[in-house]
Amino acid sequence: MEILLADSLGFCMGVKRAVDLAYLARERSGGLPIVTLGPLIHNTQETERLAGDGISAVDPAQPPDSGMVLIRAHGVAPQAYEELRARGLKVFDGTCPYVHYSQRKALELKREGYEVVIVGDRNHPEIRGILGYIDDGAFVVKNEEEARLLPVLERVGVIAQTTLSPEKYAAVCDVLRDRAPEVKVCETICDATEENQAAVRDLAGAVDLVFVIGGRHSANSNKLVDAARSAGARAMLIETPEEIDPADLERVGRVGVSAGASTPDWMIARVVAELHEIAQRKDRANAEYTE
Ligand code: SF4
Repeated sequence: MEILLADSLGFCMGVKRAVDLAYLARERSGGLPIVTLGPLIHNTQETERLAGDGISAVDPAQPPDSGMVLIRAHGVAPQAYEELRARGLKVFDGTCPYVHYSQRKALELKREGYEVVIVGDRNHPEIRGILGYIDDGAFVVKNEEEARLLPVLERVGVIAQTTLSPEKYAAVCDVLRDRAPEVKVCETICDATEENQAAVRDLAGAVDLVFVIGGRHSANSNKLVDAARSAGARAMLIETPEEIDPADLERVGRVGVSAGASTPDWMIARVVAELHEIAQRKDRANAEYTE
């Protein structure tokens, strides 16, 4: 049985960078614990590993009084940095460079006199952080219907939540073009999600079964399963290698592996190692049968 990995899988660049930075902060902390404002990653096994290594999450509304704080990939409002430093905390900034770009774009649009429209979820930490850069001076809409409810505008500058689908962004921008004489659209969508999806679709065409590693409730992992299925493959979502049932691999010549954006490399490696073991057992059984 051959085991193929998707060309792009697992952590996106921004999350990987934030996790690496957490370990760097720990190295420099002289033994002090590191806290993140909210979980660094939505993956139970990775959160437990981080906590075991002294990197734990706290409620963003209740930062500690001392020690080191890591800002997550979603970023925060500039006021949050000031408050943390005013408490005497040492701050490491794990904001994803793509999110930094969106924050700068929002500020730039505001300074150029545009009315800023952000397309995304107003309760998402990334959007709350961006709003902090422009003193909450933006309209936030999550879809075309909400865009249609905006007042009549003159000069509109639009930015998107980094994980928005390009199709949805285009549709909302079309609505805005009907409502304002000038619309400046900023390309702030990150292609990390789309890269994993395109890679699992390619993989699906080359294998009999795809295992997607990810949390049961992870939207992007479930979308990878759907993408593999719509490309014609049998696909299953698993969280750990213990969930692999060898019976599912009985008539499988090639198995593919993909992973959601919250799945750490070490978990991917454990799944691949388990598949190699199953493959070797299958080979041994076949050899015995033919003897
Ligand atoms: S913007 Fe893209 S690369 Fe950055 S954290 Fe979000 S999904 Fe990851």
